[in-house]
Amino acid sequence: MRKKILITGGAGFVGSHLCRRLLNEGNDIICLDNFFTGDKSNIIDMLDNPYFELIRHDVQEPILLEVDEIYNLACPASPPYYQFDPVATTKTSVMGAINMLSIARKCKAKILQASTSEVYGDPEIHPQPESYRGSVSTTGIRACYDEGKRCAETLFFDFHRQYDVTIKVIRIFNTYGPAMNPNDGRVVSNFIVQALKGEDITMYGDGTQTRSFQYVDDLIEGMIKLMNSPDEFTGPVNIGNPNEFTMLELAEKVIELTGSNSKIIFQPLPQDDPLQRQPIIDLAKKELDWEPTIQLEEGLKKTIDYFKSII
Ligand code: NAD
Ligand code: UDP
Repeated sequence: MRKKILITGGAGFVGSHLCRRLLNEGNDIICLDNFFTGDKSNIIDMLDNPYFELIRHDVQEPILLEVDEIYNLACPASPPYYQFDPVATTKTSVMGAINMLSIARKCKAKILQASTSEVYGDPEIHPQPESYRGSVSTTGIRACYDEGKRCAETLFFDFHRQYDVTIKVIRIFNTYGPAMNPNDGRVVSNFIVQALKGEDITMYGDGTQTRSFQYVDDLIEGMIKLMNSPDEFTGPVNIGNPNEFTMLELAEKVIELTGSNSKIIFQPLPQDDPLQRQPIIDLAKKELDWEPTIQLEEGLKKTIDYFKSII
């Protein structure tokens, strides 16, 4: 059956992949975006499709829509962008959650929140299970994003308990792939673009900090499986690839795969930058029968091909 699905942040990196996949599966898509970090070029191939509708709107403001499902992704995800207007970042997460949950409540729609591994902050427990409550600064420069996302999770669970809204909360670990903005500022896009242009690779800190990188197709599969899981399963559930790398290993892999002559230069580590991050994905395996299938080298090759085509 054709479902009417609202995707906020649909013109962004992850949102555009989600719009395309759900449109191709025969659904009626409403893509809502204010184009802060998203771009029409990400969704241009869908604009002529009568089952794809684009609304320019800021989720900080209320809106009335009739839908069956909502994927709430609207929020800048890259540190330089979410720190550009930190007050707007917190408002986007908090007011955005209230406004989208209110739609879900009114029309009895299922709603999925794109939460993040950042709710674990700079984790003292490694790797991170969903039961870990996190180590987050309330006052630092990442707090607008981390605390905004934590408050959004709280709102989701309170709308669920108080108003019986069917919720799904996914904690996404670092994800990369085609449709990332070349100026996005996150590590994978920065390193690839720098390597392809023969520019210096900007390593923040000594490069021993780790992240676990997931290719975007694996994430989309996990999001859709979560939305289609039994109503009783709310999450939060980690979705990420447990293969963990240092930023130095990532830079070396990018240099190798691009055949670049770029040199690594070292710059100061930003405040509160987490030292390590790796998901435990046992819950996703058990409840969603989900696990990542695309490993770093394969995913990087696809992403490098994408950036070659646009720069
Ligand atoms: P992105 O910046 O590419 O996409 C975010 C989209 O939201 C953009 O299209 C932007 O224009 C839109 N947006 C921002 N503020 C808005 C507002 N107030 N109203 C309407 N639209 C707004 O980022 P992404 O990587 O695609 O991330 C998508 C979601 O997934 C975000 O909520 C992010 O926090 C979450 N997430 C992503 C990652 C990752 O590694 N990519 C990891 C954890 C969580
Ligand atoms: N990073 C880096 N060089 C860059 C961009 C990022 O060394 O040009 C580092 C950053 O300090 C962090 C890691 O790479 O330790 C991942 O950064 P990103 O912004 O992609 O994601 P997040 O820190 O939110 O996980």
